[in-house]
Amino acid sequence: MVDYGQRNHRKAVDSALATPTKSAITSSSLQKHPLTTLKGVGAQLSARLEKLGLFTLQDLLFHLPYRYVDRTKITPIGSLLPYQAAVVEGNVSGANVVFGKRRSLVCRLKDGSGSINLRFYHFNASQKQALSNGEKVRCYGEVRPGVSGLEMYHPEYQVYSDASPPPLEQTLTPAYHTTDGISQPRLRGLIEQLFQFANSTMLPDLSPHKDSKHSLLERLHYLHFPPQDALLEALIDGEHPYQQQLITEELTAYQLSLLRLREQRLNQHAPALVDASELISAFTQSLAFELTSAQQRVCDNIRSDLKKNTPMMRLLQGDVGSGKTVVAAIAALCATASGKQVALMAPTDILAEQHRSNFSAWFSPLNIRVAWLSGKQKVKERREQSSAIANGDAQLVVGTHALFQNDVSFHDLALVIIDEQHRFGVHQRLLLRDKGHTPHQLIMTATPIPRTLAMSAYADLDYSVIDELPKGRLPVETVVISQKRREDIINRIRHACLDGRQAYWVCTLIEQSENLSAEAAEDAVTKLMEQLPDIKIGLVHGRLKPKDKEAIMVEFKAGNIQLLVATTVIEVGVDVPNASVMVIENPERLGLAQLHQLRGRVGRGTIASHCVLLYGDALSRHGKSRLQAMRSTSDGFKIAEIDLELRGPGEVLGTRQTGDIAFKVADLQRDLTLMPAIHEHAKIILSQQPLLAEQLIARWIGHSEQFAQA
Ligand code: ADP
Ligand code: MG
Repeated sequence: MVDYGQRNHRKAVDSALATPTKSAITSSSLQKHPLTTLKGVGAQLSARLEKLGLFTLQDLLFHLPYRYVDRTKITPIGSLLPYQAAVVEGNVSGANVVFGKRRSLVCRLKDGSGSINLRFYHFNASQKQALSNGEKVRCYGEVRPGVSGLEMYHPEYQVYSDASPPPLEQTLTPAYHTTDGISQPRLRGLIEQLFQFANSTMLPDLSPHKDSKHSLLERLHYLHFPPQDALLEALIDGEHPYQQQLITEELTAYQLSLLRLREQRLNQHAPALVDASELISAFTQSLAFELTSAQQRVCDNIRSDLKKNTPMMRLLQGDVGSGKTVVAAIAALCATASGKQVALMAPTDILAEQHRSNFSAWFSPLNIRVAWLSGKQKVKERREQSSAIANGDAQLVVGTHALFQNDVSFHDLALVIIDEQHRFGVHQRLLLRDKGHTPHQLIMTATPIPRTLAMSAYADLDYSVIDELPKGRLPVETVVISQKRREDIINRIRHACLDGRQAYWVCTLIEQSENLSAEAAEDAVTKLMEQLPDIKIGLVHGRLKPKDKEAIMVEFKAGNIQLLVATTVIEVGVDVPNASVMVIENPERLGLAQLHQLRGRVGRGTIASHCVLLYGDALSRHGKSRLQAMRSTSDGFKIAEIDLELRGPGEVLGTRQTGDIAFKVADLQRDLTLMPAIHEHAKIILSQQPLLAEQLIARWIGHSEQFAQA
């Protein structure tokens, strides 16, 4: 278990109780009352509620609707817009079972202004009967553009007689995030029950902008059950002042929790490392190039961190090809010169292997021994390497996450470098810290993250950017081309290869299944071999044994393979400067940041390079314009901004699945502009009002001590 400063937390809570202001006690009691206090909540239901992160009465109070639907009025069918959710009513003018790819029941609904199709893929005989010609139907659903006009799929509906139309909702209908076995009405019922006995003294207002007219409890009630005259549109867009206050409060709490992590880190001890200037200049002189001034500046940041006796925790961002690896090498030299060890972790075997060969070439002339750990090493080799790590013979250890398995013990680990880590959440940051020691850490990200987002997601880290590419790089020319012109592209590849250059052919699949993409890549190879009989073609995918993968990469680097067909396993870090053409099949399946990473595999040498985005037939206009963005810029930070706009922060940070940033009311994408001010404000709260900081964290992040335990 990670000791997530629990004791400090307890202490703060205890001292809050020791000075018994009334509000502190009552608030903590609301916070401490389990949900089983409510009528009808037993062990089973409370276990389900826990899945939603709800443990206490206060948690439930803050489990706010994630959206509202307006079922208070009827919209004329003729004025419906695609993707609008609406209540409509009309008369059935024909209902038929349609046989297509999937059988469906299609029912035409007409009012004075227009008509719409209701489509049901799952239906039974009595439904079909009920929706017969002339019947009056009221329904609610989302409008979709269909082949023959607008449609609603599986709307909720009621068939009624003119004499007794069903009543419309009086207020906006809240929709809550919920989980299996808890229906929306059930959840709503529990919240109603809670409001029956909660009173304002139980819930102190922690907001810096206190609202004297309405208590926090009243404002929460409003948000759970908006009255008839509520500003519907503002509520739906999250722009109601009550929502804004809570959003600010939640984001502040989140910042506070990260800043507190940072504070805790600065209370820990790490070995102060020597500056190693001689060793470093010996190393830089051995390089074939000079460091860019951005690399220089970042190295200075790192070297001054490493001289301190508190652990460095620095995020290093730099666009693909900006030269992060030499920066890592320079950091590593500070540790080896201090007689200590460095671990360099890469996300894939291919990349770890590449680092091993680079670092061995760089470091063996300096008498630094490089060891190597891979999950699939032979027992004997692994044992040899492990013992060199344990007795300190090896000063630099390269590997995948195999480095951090329990059986690996370091002699004196002072620095951990994590390369190309774009799926690096708070969880992992904490896990590494829990290895029993506090080495310095340098985290290098593959995906540029826009500054405001980085600030909010990584507020516990220090942050450096390499914002300059080495001189003489030619931008990669990107074209967006239809599969129909595949032949042309294949010809281009032939020419490039016959000219002595090399190329990548990347296969993508909708599903993130390495098995399926491996198959797709195998198919592609078979076809390409027929079409390019005079070209030497190799194949890498995630299902190959690391040894085989490695062998193929070595052949490709040596130029013995001219065309490398691959899945996205080559996405990160691979460096073959002679490769100057990349074709990406079905690029529409990937995020822009990922495409940018892939594209970064070419344009690493001095030859003009090309990237061909070969899209499939079914590409929408929106999809095409997204790809065009790739053509218009090669700046990873700009691409990340676009990705952020189009796909949201979860995608950009790569943490969507881990639920790393699961907010109750805030939405990082929508509320990102608030971040800089909140960040500054949080710093002030943490230093001047530590008790308030604890209360805010407990209220908003409280049980995400899952944060620490994942
Ligand atoms: P990334 O930041 O994507 O990890 P790498 O560290 O792999 O980039 O560097 C990309 C290529 O640029 C490598 O071949 C590296 O040797 C080279 N390189 C790094 N720094 C410079 C520089 N200052 N001048 C010229 N080439 C450089
Ligand atoms: Mg790299």
